[in-house]
Amino acid sequence: MTLSFSLNNPALWRTQCFVGGLWCDSTTQKTFSVINPANGNLIAQVADAGVSDVQNAISLAVVAQQHWATQTAEARSRILRRWFELVMIHQDDLARILTLEQGKPFAEARAEIAYGASYIEWFSEEAKRIQGDVIAPPSHDKRIITLKQPVGVVAAITPWNFPNAMLARKIAPALAAGCAIVAKPAAETPLSALALAYLADEAGVPAGVINILCGSDAAAIGREFTDHPQVRKLSFTGSTMVGKRLIAQCASSVKKITLELGGNAPFLVFDDADVNAAVEGAIAAKFRNAGQTCVCANRFYIQRDIYDEFVEKFIAASSQFVIGDGFDSATTIGPLISPNAIKKVEALVADAVEKGARIAYQSPIRDVSASGYFYPLQVLTHVPPSAQLVHEEIFAPVAVLFPFDTEADVIRLANASEFGLAAYCYTRDAARQWRIPELLEVGMVGMNTGLISNAMAPFGGIKQSGWGREGSRYGIEDYLNLKYICLSVV
Ligand code: NAP
Repeated sequence: MTLSFSLNNPALWRTQCFVGGLWCDSTTQKTFSVINPANGNLIAQVADAGVSDVQNAISLAVVAQQHWATQTAEARSRILRRWFELVMIHQDDLARILTLEQGKPFAEARAEIAYGASYIEWFSEEAKRIQGDVIAPPSHDKRIITLKQPVGVVAAITPWNFPNAMLARKIAPALAAGCAIVAKPAAETPLSALALAYLADEAGVPAGVINILCGSDAAAIGREFTDHPQVRKLSFTGSTMVGKRLIAQCASSVKKITLELGGNAPFLVFDDADVNAAVEGAIAAKFRNAGQTCVCANRFYIQRDIYDEFVEKFIAASSQFVIGDGFDSATTIGPLISPNAIKKVEALVADAVEKGARIAYQSPIRDVSASGYFYPLQVLTHVPPSAQLVHEEIFAPVAVLFPFDTEADVIRLANASEFGLAAYCYTRDAARQWRIPELLEVGMVGMNTGLISNAMAPFGGIKQSGWGREGSRYGIEDYLNLKYICLSVV
């Protein structure tokens, strides 16, 4: 496939699977198509891995992991550090690949590459801080010691919305802990994952420690991951529906599992807040990646006294966005990922409007390819609580604004969701700044900020938003087994 754009380092353009340190076609010789969401054009044909490819990758990972685990923490750290540096050296090329297959504006793609790299950097450092304990024993003749060991081979499945960062956030802690990994990126965005693997190889990650299998039959690959006895852990980022299926599949082999699933983030603005700052935070929390992030604000609750002012300012700020091709420097919102994503949001908005919602603002879409998957930015008011988009992730640039009266009311509304990933709150009241995060049923709270995710912080949810944490010092724990030794000293 010829490149429709140019890379400074064309070697980053990989369309084969990466298994056992080699670039290879699928054993079936099949390929699948990757499409540019900005114009519907074919970007690449990528090797379509089948079950035998998965089995082969797992076998090679088992062997590679045994050697990798014997490397010193410092040696693993050095390789990860080199990988981080190479990712940053190739930031623009990686961002170009990302924009091409995912659609987000190039500036956002660059930011994602730096964000993904920050996890590699962080875990290159954490590799050296895997520590056990010496615990006070119950009697003088005993000593209690704990140590932490890598779980073994990890399988990972990642989504299309952050094709670089979601993978980096899994591979980096796995490798730091001494695990090997077999990963399947989303079929929409395999090229970012393959380019990342290329740089890992260049950085000196030994053959078989990272394996990337792209494939169109996610269910079959997922089934092999969950059923295979030598895969000791599954790490999944994606929808709650698929996550639930994978939990059930993992039951038969009692696999350790980390799940980063869907969200339905509430965004609370109290009447003592700095309204301008709240609008700025709301815009950042809603429209990043065209609204396609798991921590995107899904429901805005504004205290009634300031509701009209907030709506007016929010619409004014929303009208500044420019929807277009991510490679156009004026673009601030790209296309959605697929025609299905458009169908889904159209149905959600139609349902809300049918039930009484008003579209208070809709942005124009100009100068884009008619074959691109573009959807206008919309601001909805007068939305009834029964509307589906109150209960489901919208995953599109559609903001839903509600008024509320009291703190008790808004806490009840915010927690009325089966999801519990992120929430945001704007208030200048110091007591409320403590109280509200304690009352919200979520894993993460942005207090007077709309941006919460970074490598130092534990990212993850509660309720049906998942299990486990990624990033921070907690993020490596899921890749480690805790072993306890009872030592007799007589
Ligand atoms: P998805 O449909 O669940 O897909 C995610 C991944 O799972 C893709 O690689 C997909 O492969 C694969 N998959 C699909 N069906 C599978 C099956 N039966 N067995 C094994 N794997 C399967 O989710 P998505 O629509 O791509 O991603 C958006 C979702 O991810 C949203 O709900 C979002 O909130 C969530 N998300 C959560 C976080 C977090 O940290 N909590 C972060 C980002 C995204 P194919 O692409 O080949 O279908």
